Amino acid sequence: MTDIKSMNLSELTAYLVENGFEKFRAKQVLGWVKQDAADFDAMKNIPQKLRDFLKDNTYLACAEIVRIQRSKLDDTVKYLFRLYDGEYVEGVLMRYHHGRTICISSQVGCKMGCTFCATGKSGFSRSLTASEMIAQIRSAEIDCGERISNVVMMGMGEPFDNYDNVIRFLRLVSSEDSLCIGMRHITISTCGIVPRIRDFADLRLQCGLSVSLHAPHDEQRSRTMPVNRRYPITELMNAVRYYIDKTNRRVTFEYALIDGENDSDESAAALAQLLKGLLCHVNLIPVNSVTGAEYRKSSIKRQQAFVNILSSAGINATVRRSLGADIDAACGQLKRNYMKGDV
Ligand code: SAH
Ligand code: SF4
Repeated sequence: MTDIKSMNLSELTAYLVENGFEKFRAKQVLGWVKQDAADFDAMKNIPQKLRDFLKDNTYLACAEIVRIQRSKLDDTVKYLFRLYDGEYVEGVLMRYHHGRTICISSQVGCKMGCTFCATGKSGFSRSLTASEMIAQIRSAEIDCGERISNVVMMGMGEPFDNYDNVIRFLRLVSSEDSLCIGMRHITISTCGIVPRIRDFADLRLQCGLSVSLHAPHDEQRSRTMPVNRRYPITELMNAVRYYIDKTNRRVTFEYALIDGENDSDESAAALAQLLKGLLCHVNLIPVNSVTGAEYRKSSIKRQQAFVNILSSAGINATVRRSLGADIDAACGQLKRNYMKGDV
């Protein structure tokens, strides 16, 4: 079955013409898609013959909201979405002063196995299509009744392990035929798939890039992030430098502060040394608790000492406010396995 919602106008035009339909039908069909048509019968000005063809050969991807959890601590909302084949992903809607931001998933689960992450612990089932990434945004917009202006790809999955679909998503979602969310309003977070960081740099897109670093030494990083055994820190930093050279964009490094693991003065100094002279920002995230992992947040005092060491070395660093912790919606808390009765 062909996923027509992942196609752009010229691809859909070519597809319909190839199958004997008029060229102008593509724009009409995309118009219905944009109006959230639930099925092909809702496409009123489309002739029956084309509707039948679409029904037999294509499908309309969806991300149906099957559970909504609202935080009592802040305005954060967590959605559980059901995909067309019965798989589930989670997404998180946040309210900031500059508008609505959604954190979407790019895969059902994740293969990367970071030890501090609930997604990593929940295994992997499949990658999402571009249309399924867009559908999460659209379903949340319909639910909250407001336009979503910013997107972060920091939900379930490793975006650069699903590179082609993610790039397709970026191009599609920013286009007029879709949601028109400019790339400047989208951030991708990667655990450090080096060749894809270089490919991404070559595209010179306006989209933001975050790199999950979490440790300044290889031995330490490999302990919590298996991906580091494949792409160690030196290679990762070279790829990040290449990205900055190509795009002239500032990179954000994510660093979860874990008590007794990576939060010492020595780690802070080594991190400062690693990032010296780079166009970057460090986002410190006191590690969020995850079932099955023993990690604890660093104390406030430790967090502050860590920031101070970075700042005095001239590295721009802030501690990220955690949103939605009471509904397991914070960084690293999204997961793939659901108990019977959850939905
Ligand atoms: N796979 C991508 C994006 C999804 S994870 C990546 O790893 O970058 C989004 C962010 O949450 C990443 O920076 C990730 O390292 C971080 N994270 C994962 N588990 C966490 C936890 N328990 N506490 C704090 N941050 C966590
Ligand atoms: Fe995957 Fe990112 Fe979680 Fe690591 S932190 S397991 S890469 S989702």
